[in-house]
Amino acid sequence: MQTITIESGKEKQLLRHHPWVFSKAIVPGQHPVEGPCKVLTSEGRFIAWGWYDEKSHIPLHLLSWNEGDVIDESWWKRRITEAVFRRAMFFSDKKTPTTTFRILFSEADMLPGLVADVYGSMIRIIISSHIAWGKKELVTQTLQELLHPSLQVITTDSAYTGVEALPGGALFWKDDGFFTPNGKLPAVRFREDGLLYEVVPGMGQKSGFYCDQRENRSIVEPYCKGANVLDAFCYTGAFTLHALRGGATHIDCLDSSEDALRQLLYHIHMNQNEGTIPQNSREKVETKQCNVFEQMRDIPNDTYDVMILDPPKLAQTKSQAEAASRAYKDLNRLAMERIKRGGIIATFSCSGAITSEMFRTILAWSAQDAGREVQILHILGAGEDHPIRLSFPESEYLKGFVLRIL
Ligand code: SAH
Repeated sequence: MQTITIESGKEKQLLRHHPWVFSKAIVPGQHPVEGPCKVLTSEGRFIAWGWYDEKSHIPLHLLSWNEGDVIDESWWKRRITEAVFRRAMFFSDKKTPTTTFRILFSEADMLPGLVADVYGSMIRIIISSHIAWGKKELVTQTLQELLHPSLQVITTDSAYTGVEALPGGALFWKDDGFFTPNGKLPAVRFREDGLLYEVVPGMGQKSGFYCDQRENRSIVEPYCKGANVLDAFCYTGAFTLHALRGGATHIDCLDSSEDALRQLLYHIHMNQNEGTIPQNSREKVETKQCNVFEQMRDIPNDTYDVMILDPPKLAQTKSQAEAASRAYKDLNRLAMERIKRGGIIATFSCSGAITSEMFRTILAWSAQDAGREVQILHILGAGEDHPIRLSFPESEYLKGFVLRIL
């Protein structure tokens, strides 16, 4: 087995189980080949089993800190199986019911760059590392044996296709092999918290739906009773459906994507037919395709009782955090200025580079500039199917607050 030695002083984080090793931390002059390796301190002490891959912008990923492990096919299968079994309670959810959730959450499940979401009978895999790309057959075969999905779809994360040498496009898997579909595949229906949705396999943003917000949508729902609501960055309307079920009187839905807004209206139609939201829901909803950052300047004062602000990732990296902070601050300041007194703002950041503390500080600046007293009613994060691994703080990407603006 090949070994890789870490520069003295660079091993501390790794001994604390952080999984990423950048090239500067690797003693120069070693010439590892792609594949498993034993990672050692400069004194020759075992740190972890890793995977070397020079095509990755993180050339060495640490996989296991247990010296007794052997990194072979059955090890990868075990890791995948364990992650799926940890979600057993989601598969037996009869009460709410929910048939979409995350079953593999990359580094948080000790699976570098590998995400998989369940949508009813379909599994959507998103790959963001060259290592995971090399394991895609093993991943699909393992999930097929475990869950017997009717279809698996793999795409790569466009933010990483360049730095990880990954191709674009979608791969489709059925039974025991990849296939090329004849045209567009039929939409797949699924439920979240009793509400009905659909995605077209391989289409839509990310894996097609943002299941990380599941618990936050349920928390926001009761505040919408009798409320005039703004759902900003509404995508395909999951917060809107909850607001309708919660008794909102009117909802303005804003998003830059025309396709997403069209799908939102279709979701309202589907749920009205199913009786999961009031029959006159469609009349209460107005959609507008726009740039929310600009549109917020034009919304009238004292109109909305509830505002939901769920922008896309504004900082991809730490270097973008400052510009993103300004954008979050302005967005939230405008909302705080314009909302009715006593109104509720549910505000989110899904930028990994903005920590929860930073986001809270940004909101304090917004409140100060808006001249408002603001109370935090709920501190929010991603659902429990998106666990935060303590040794990998980067897994805490989604933060949110329910605020009351006095
Ligand atoms: N709230 C949604 C998820 C939002 S994801 C849900 O619960 O499902 C972020 C959304 O912001 C996407 O739908 C994207 O189309 C939209 N978006 C990105 N930039 C935008 C902009 N400048 N103005 C309006 N919408 C934007």
